[in-house]
Amino acid sequence: MIKPALLSGVLLAAALVPASVRSAAVTETLVIDATDAPRQVWHAALHVPLVTGGDVTLVFPKWKPGNHAPTGQVGNLGMLRATAGGAGVPWTRDPNDLWTFHFAVPANATGLDLTYDLYEGAPSGGDLSAHIGVLDWNQVVFAPQGAAMRDVEVAASIVLPAGWTEATALPLASAAAPFSMPGGTVRFAPVTLETLIDSPLYCGDEERVVPLTAANGMTNEVDLFGESPTDIDPTAAQIARWKALVAQTDRLFGARHWTHYHFLVSLSDTIPPNGVEHHQSSADRVPERYLSDADLYRALADLLPHEFTHSWNGKYRRPAGLITDTFQQPQNTELLWVYEGLTDYYGVVLAQRAGLAEPGQFEDTLASNYATLDAEPGHRTRSLGDTAKMQVINRVTPGSYAFSYERRGSDYYPEGVLLWLDADTIIRQRSHGARSLDTFAQRFFGGPDVPGTAIGYTRADLIAALQATQPYDWATFFRTRVDDVLPHPELGGITRGGWRLVYTPERTDWQIRQERIDGGLDATFSLGSSIAANGALPFTIDGMPLARAGIGAGARIIGVDGMTFSVPRLRLAIQAAQHSAKPIALIVDDRGVVRAVDVPYHGGERYPRLVRDPAAPDLLAAIAAPKGSR
Ligand SMILES: [Zn+2]
Repeated sequence: MIKPALLSGVLLAAALVPASVRSAAVTETLVIDATDAPRQVWHAALHVPLVTGGDVTLVFPKWKPGNHAPTGQVGNLGMLRATAGGAGVPWTRDPNDLWTFHFAVPANATGLDLTYDLYEGAPSGGDLSAHIGVLDWNQVVFAPQGAAMRDVEVAASIVLPAGWTEATALPLASAAAPFSMPGGTVRFAPVTLETLIDSPLYCGDEERVVPLTAANGMTNEVDLFGESPTDIDPTAAQIARWKALVAQTDRLFGARHWTHYHFLVSLSDTIPPNGVEHHQSSADRVPERYLSDADLYRALADLLPHEFTHSWNGKYRRPAGLITDTFQQPQNTELLWVYEGLTDYYGVVLAQRAGLAEPGQFEDTLASNYATLDAEPGHRTRSLGDTAKMQVINRVTPGSYAFSYERRGSDYYPEGVLLWLDADTIIRQRSHGARSLDTFAQRFFGGPDVPGTAIGYTRADLIAALQATQPYDWATFFRTRVDDVLPHPELGGITRGGWRLVYTPERTDWQIRQERIDGGLDATFSLGSSIAANGALPFTIDGMPLARAGIGAGARIIGVDGMTFSVPRLRLAIQAAQHSAKPIALIVDDRGVVRAVDVPYHGGERYPRLVRDPAAPDLLAAIAAPKGSR
């Protein structure tokens, strides 16, 4: 096989080289120095071998997998120096693409060496705390322009601060490696750029490894990294639920597409909460007291199930438009209502089946999803499918909650849950319980135990697989629910599931828990905003009482009925107004202007919940029941 001269100035255009002769055309060596991680800096040294010198073009990864957006943090890159054979090499940034760098390398050079730093997002918080580092390799690597991510190999290693340990799905270099590194250094086997970027590394000085399964050469573990030892001390019941999650996911999909899976979990109030999926790991970021605060634990019940499901739905099978050759190419996100929507559905369902969620949490989540979407004025003007296409903009400019009900945000998550519940109940009802969405999931995402493959699919493939599961007009099903603008979200899954949606003055357990966590008051369905503990209004929904009274996002309630604002006082005022002709009298600090505002609202507190319809079988209970149990 001929290895093309990927890095010579003349022959660089790998796109011109047939894919059949492109294989590991270049092996880069990357050393990350994490010794300054506690002060939020990753130092990097990269060696790129060259066939010839000349004008060499390297790219910094632009599109971040799992983010589905051009969020590569090139703005956090600094101190970039280049040398070849020890002599300095000047570089320039491409004026038309800020992730592309040109290097004027001497003609006889055999390699290009770069050193650079990546600064995490202080002061608003990045992926580093004084005790924990979350390394996304796409932030610390360059690749030859035009080279496919599967054709570039990277031999990576990391130098850790004293006393720190690491966890990652990356395989370690073999013991017979030709050279060793200094103490505190971990060397990894060469992997493709695709696998490297798909394998984040967690490190820190407080780690606890919790093995979940080990059989047939396959292992699954939770790697906990905390700010203190007390943060990473799960109870026996919590460990048992993680094991149940693996068992339930096995029963759902019937095959594994990983050999060594790592739930990488940081527990920190410094690192913002998040979750990112990978083939053989998930990067889960939760608050410090996640394991010890029952409210946080239940509120985040579906995080690990969601990210784990992505190993099948998202990594093994992926919408064809999300599979690209390089990290520079744009992604087509229009099928995110499958990639994320179906994953969100199974995240909630698996949390219930594994016992991570409390009984009733499934119903509360569905009620909240439906009611929140139905409260959106924007739902009347934009389709579910359009929210998936707009993912890119939402990620790049997430903005605030202001006008999120009018603009709509990443609604393919919560509306995806309702969509796939709808499909699940149709299959269950029409097959008289013989089949379900699980049947489809096992056929579509199961298959053989093959790790590391991304098999693309289109909407037509999806419809054909559903048709094979249960004959139905699935093309119309998706057209009306995804492409068309609906006046109201689809309620069919809830009603067919044997439940009705109602609004009551009493909060559900889910709402009580949410309000305990943030200390605020969720008046979304009464006054038209959620009110923070300090009275701040992140949004006011167009057409609802606060907005009608002229109060906008960014205002803060400072007085209620002649008294200083507090959450209990506002709650009492909403309740009292129900039995009075007088408006709720607020004093508002509206971005510096203090004024009195009367809100003529008399509907009392309103919270969505599901109630059983005794005339219909309880399909939600059947969906939430652990598989394999009788
Ligand atoms: Zn997801």
